[in-house]
Amino acid sequence: MEAKMKIGYPTHPRRDPVEEIAWIGANGFDFVDLFLEPDLGAAERISCQAIKDALACYKLGSVGHLAWYLPIGSPIPRLREAAVEVAEAYLHKFKQIGVNRVTIHANWPPSLFTDKEGLEYQTESLEMLLPKAARLGISMLYEPVGHAHETEENLKSLFNRFPDLQFHLDIGHFNLNMRNPLRFVKAFKNRLAHIHLHDNDGTKDQHLPMGTGKIEWEPLIEELKTFYTGTITLEIFTPVREYVLLSRDLLLRLWGPKPNSCATSRHLVSKDEH
Ligand SMILES: [Zn+2]
Repeated sequence: MEAKMKIGYPTHPRRDPVEEIAWIGANGFDFVDLFLEPDLGAAERISCQAIKDALACYKLGSVGHLAWYLPIGSPIPRLREAAVEVAEAYLHKFKQIGVNRVTIHANWPPSLFTDKEGLEYQTESLEMLLPKAARLGISMLYEPVGHAHETEENLKSLFNRFPDLQFHLDIGHFNLNMRNPLRFVKAFKNRLAHIHLHDNDGTKDQHLPMGTGKIEWEPLIEELKTFYTGTITLEIFTPVREYVLLSRDLLLRLWGPKPNSCATSRHLVSKDEH
């Protein structure tokens, strides 16, 4: 028996968010992954009421997404403080729209700093940000970005420090740096609260349609469908959005029951017939 999940699509931050929501709603998605970041998705450019009305009009759920490049892992303390300040301003916007789950991305310092230092800087930022989010009634999701420091051990040490922080698994990101996303699905099963789905060939973060890169989708979906009932965003960046709809069809097919194999078995000759 497969677990049920919800499928969504992100708004492009350089397009009008209300028009983006209209496309997502008209194409029958369950929710919108609202990317609030410059330029047209910037806090000072958007109308929270217009976004809220568009979501209600199409009866869409929502999850929020902060700019992926906020420097919460910077070695410079003032930049970390600024990142937290900016994130907080956006959380107020999400609150006004009615979004109560928001992603913040991992951010690592340059390579002359160790992974331990990178974890410390991010921990310090999250210690400042998470109580502010909690006061607004917002749960925070942490999305690893595909960096080599994002080992199972390092991520576990961060999540152990923050019991309320939820795990956002970006499948494409975990296919980089010689990693296998399936391993991270299994390791973070209990914290898994949101998924970004896209493909790549393992060399860079390409955000391709499902099945056009080198990710082994079948075992991954087989595992997910045994327990996952959360949200999956098709984070596929293509000007031809039919590829997004094709990816959704493929995901639904893999998520459903396996096709009956009776027809094929009829062509096999059993041992008794020899
Ligand atoms: Zn992502």
